Amino acid sequence: MISVEEALENILNQVNILEAEQAPLLSSLGQVLAEDIYAGSNIPPLDNAAMDGYAVQSKDTQNASSEFPCLLRVIGTVTAGSISERKLEPGTAIRIMTGAPVPAGADSVVMFEDTDEARRKSSTAEPSFAEIGILKKSEPGLNIRKAGEDITKGALILRSGTIIRPAEVGVLASLGKSEVAVIRRPVVAVLATGNELVDINKPLTEGKIYSSNTYSLAALVKRYGGIPEILGIALDNEDSLLNKLRQGTHADMLITSGGVSVGDYDIVKDILAKEGEISFWTVRMKPGKPLAFGRIKGIDRTGVPRNIPHLGLPGNPVSSMVTFEMFARPAILKMMGKKNLNKPTIEAVLEETVINTDGRRIYSRAIIEQCNGHYQARLTGAQGSGILTSMSQAKGLVIIPEDRKEVKTGETVQVMMLDWNEEVSG
Ligand code: AMP
Ligand code: MG
Repeated sequence: MISVEEALENILNQVNILEAEQAPLLSSLGQVLAEDIYAGSNIPPLDNAAMDGYAVQSKDTQNASSEFPCLLRVIGTVTAGSISERKLEPGTAIRIMTGAPVPAGADSVVMFEDTDEARRKSSTAEPSFAEIGILKKSEPGLNIRKAGEDITKGALILRSGTIIRPAEVGVLASLGKSEVAVIRRPVVAVLATGNELVDINKPLTEGKIYSSNTYSLAALVKRYGGIPEILGIALDNEDSLLNKLRQGTHADMLITSGGVSVGDYDIVKDILAKEGEISFWTVRMKPGKPLAFGRIKGIDRTGVPRNIPHLGLPGNPVSSMVTFEMFARPAILKMMGKKNLNKPTIEAVLEETVINTDGRRIYSRAIIEQCNGHYQARLTGAQGSGILTSMSQAKGLVIIPEDRKEVKTGETVQVMMLDWNEEVSG
């Protein structure tokens, strides 16, 4: 048996970062930028008002107070999106809205609250007035957002390798980028194997079960940024399996479930050994002991032969999901150009004793709750690898080390948080 770390290292050594492609801005969310982004313009492009108010020359307001307002002649209005045609002369003011470019000649903006506009409005039916009273001394630069204060033309704004989050989408949009170069998403083909399986679109007959793995695994591929391609279900015979496998050989990675244990019909590993190079391991973990990994013959997008990584996960629904988290997830993230492949892990106090008799690392499904400033981990109940609802209830996987025969109630354990993304720990 090999350790989880050894299996992971071996897998990661055999998957490569994919090429870059142009992606529409919004669909690049979660992908890794593959170009340095330099600002082609200043943002904001012009000095503009940070408040609704009056653009003034601050020296005109030196003696202004609410008792002795300083009166300025109103010579126009400028709204966001337009440019004032009038230049501000001493003794004048231009009404200005937030975001509007500051008129030439003005050096500050006095907000409405510091003018007598409200009183003037209530005492006249006129929509505009010839004069405005300034109630407070202004300073040069007051309530003005300077051109380029956010982004300076020519500056390096985002480095290649940055993960695109909503904020980066916003920054790129502010620069008018409708497309960006990103590391492309891997296409991951998902194939379930087993004579007992039926797809969810078909009626269930006696003795059969729905192939839940097809969908849980495809959903995991999607969650981690890949593009799942469902190949359906292969029967436990050579022809069926080969036929299905060949439909997936253009993908960047192939994931199968089932057929990797030692039962009579566990032929995935035998077929794969014939179709490529296969390593078959038993990994020191529970759930998920049997695992196959290798490369099978395929072709790339341009028709050139190449080998594609294949991960053969165990069939039990919990085992396939847990082994996906341990091995397929980091492989997908690496292909996408991500650097931090670790699921965030927290410390929690275990609420019940866990016995570990066979020297494997146990990943127990647990509900994690905060309690008096620390986390508590309560197991989801029966931990059988067929109890898929335990994954649904779980917020994390409690890690019971392989060298511990027993971890007792009240001990602190490490918990991998299933719904926290890797960027949390980056
Ligand atoms: P295997 O690894 O092929 O021996 O499968 C182990 C067990 O997992 C089988 O007894 C099935 O009940 C279950 N199983 C295998 N594949 C699937 C699947 N695609 N969806 C749901 N359960 C499965
Ligand atoms: Mg099977």
